[in-house]
Amino acid sequence: MPSEFELIGRYFARPTPSADLGVGDDAALLRLAAGHQCVVSTDMLVEGTHFVAGTDPRRLGWKTIAVSISDLAAMAARPRWATLAVSLPDADDAWLEGFAGGVHACCEAHGVELVGGDTTRGPRNLCATVFGEVPTGQAVTRAGARDGDDIWISGQPGRAALALARLLDGTSADGTLPAEFVEALEAPRPRLALGLALRGLASAMLDVSDGLLGDLAHILECSGVGARLVDGWLPLRALVDCGVDPQRAREALLGGGDDYELLFCAPVAARSRVASVGASVDTPLHRIGTVLAEAGRLELALDDGRCRPLQPIGFRHFTGDKIDN
Ligand code: ADP
Ligand code: MG
Repeated sequence: MPSEFELIGRYFARPTPSADLGVGDDAALLRLAAGHQCVVSTDMLVEGTHFVAGTDPRRLGWKTIAVSISDLAAMAARPRWATLAVSLPDADDAWLEGFAGGVHACCEAHGVELVGGDTTRGPRNLCATVFGEVPTGQAVTRAGARDGDDIWISGQPGRAALALARLLDGTSADGTLPAEFVEALEAPRPRLALGLALRGLASAMLDVSDGLLGDLAHILECSGVGARLVDGWLPLRALVDCGVDPQRAREALLGGGDDYELLFCAPVAARSRVASVGASVDTPLHRIGTVLAEAGRLELALDDGRCRPLQPIGFRHFTGDKIDN
């Protein structure tokens, strides 16, 4: 059985030209560009909670890094470095080869260098911290949404939840889901180019990890506002066109997590600029509603002009709550 130092050397240590000191000492040394703030995010993936045993290790490696890069994208920050803490039940070479390959591929694809971590034996548990930078004062937080702002969502939320449901119940209730659905779940693409391009345009932003409504509720709470979503504006068609029942598609879109799309608000005056940003980074953007002045109000406008309240519940680890809308 190799020592953890052999594993680190073989699988994780890589050149880190942009760090003053990378893997191999007690700590890494990083230097921020002048006039920038350091932006940091950590995410943990636990076997049995965030992924099922037997998940493709390369995709898991990709996702371990991708979810934290997504957090930095949601702050309109540029990711630069990562650390990686892994607890592994054994030193399976094939698994490590795949996992480390996914980690390095995701780092390289987003300009990130792996500068340190921790390697220990135990239940499979994967935790990355990504460090990045943003010009001082220009990060986009959850707190800036204002009455009348447009609410936007990128890409196609709902695919990961539908893929997960099929994986867990093993049914083919949704027919043959396209490969992109499983990819959205197992190897999400952080919307980094979009997040960076929205700097100065978005008033509030986050990445959807626990479900669109639950995460929207975080923006509403931090900003002290409410929201009206418009049923007819929700990007349901692509899901329904793949054979998903319309009600199930709506539930996956509003309540499903793990797609790592960006949910953001922007002033009406910025609408055409937002649309051009979407086109310039080749990411579909959907305007799905409006920010309301009334704090905590969350409703869905139906085609017949009526509005009904929505429950802002996403996935919660300790209560297991999941309320249908
Ligand atoms: P220490 O005992 O000083 O905490 P470790 O023995 O845990 O150091 O790690 C040795 C070096 O390898 C450190 O620079 C650490 O950051 C790095 N490292 C450990 N595990 C990983 C990993 N999974 N990925 C990247 N670097 C790692
Ligand atoms: Mg030490």
